Amino acid sequence: MYTNYADKALSGDGLSPADMRAVLQTPDRDILPLLHAAFQVRHHHFGRKVHIHVLMNAKSGLCPEDCAYCSQSSISTATIDKYPLRPAREIVDAARQARENGAYRYCIVTSGRAPTDRELDALTDTVRQIKREVDIDICCCLGLLTAESAQRLKNAGVDRVNHNLNTSQAHTPNIVSTHTYRDRVETLYNIQKAGLETCSGGIIGMGETHADIIDMAVSLRDLGVNSIPVNFLHPIAGTPLSDHNALTPHDCLRALCLFRFVNPSTEIRVAGGREKNLRSLQPLALYPANSLFMEGYLTTGGLDVEATHRMIADLGFEIERDDPRADSSQHLHCFGAARH
Ligand code: SF4
Repeated sequence: MYTNYADKALSGDGLSPADMRAVLQTPDRDILPLLHAAFQVRHHHFGRKVHIHVLMNAKSGLCPEDCAYCSQSSISTATIDKYPLRPAREIVDAARQARENGAYRYCIVTSGRAPTDRELDALTDTVRQIKREVDIDICCCLGLLTAESAQRLKNAGVDRVNHNLNTSQAHTPNIVSTHTYRDRVETLYNIQKAGLETCSGGIIGMGETHADIIDMAVSLRDLGVNSIPVNFLHPIAGTPLSDHNALTPHDCLRALCLFRFVNPSTEIRVAGGREKNLRSLQPLALYPANSLFMEGYLTTGGLDVEATHRMIADLGFEIERDDPRADSSQHLHCFGAARH
């Protein structure tokens, strides 16, 4: 039965709605056959390669939005570092360091509903400076973007923009009231219209149903995004979701398998909350996912460089080190971010 999911994903027929529900209802005792089927799809498109991403937080906290999961929101009382946009030199130097560490894509992440004109001026100048000084692709995660803002990023040399759907359309009003699901989709359209690559994913564990998870996986497929970060809620004290702690490691693995079957050739990243929610099973996430974050997240810690490299080696997987620009069919390293 599980191999059948791989066959459908690889043939292009796709899974039926009943198949998708069944994936999320897979009994714990069958998690290995399910992972094996998802790995067949992952292996077909990515082999045993793993793309490592590292987050860089260029502006933290001070956000007027009320996203219930976020420690940087206006309603959060979490104790976090709060600072305005970092100076250009600091962002450029970090890009150079990223390149020296083997990445070719660097993602600049800022908190907030949307970049102000002043921030956009500063960020586009910084991006141009990076492009002049460092041979690296650039990803930005800046909140909601108008068509004009997206075009300005494109003109400055940005390659990819992250903007997460976060959850289903139906569940969004339970998570945020200061913007809508439609606002998020509009931003993704604006990114695509500007000719930028799109990175968009979600957060599992925010009280959603299986139908919400399926809706998100299918919506991201239909939007044709290039990269999907799958986050698992890391409940933070001081946020409205601080008591949401219902995920099991098997729930996380089932969700990753679903995203792989529904989006067979898309880069899928096991993202925030990996260490906390998958616990000792976190290496298994790399059977459906082909990418992960290293050295923690925006306001929470994570596995360090040495432990991440060891985990990948222990699995018999291989860190993607080649410069994919030499072969456009390969997916890319990304110093990437996924907050909004
Ligand atoms: S997710 Fe982004 S928009 Fe929402 S509160 Fe956090 S920083 Fe603000």
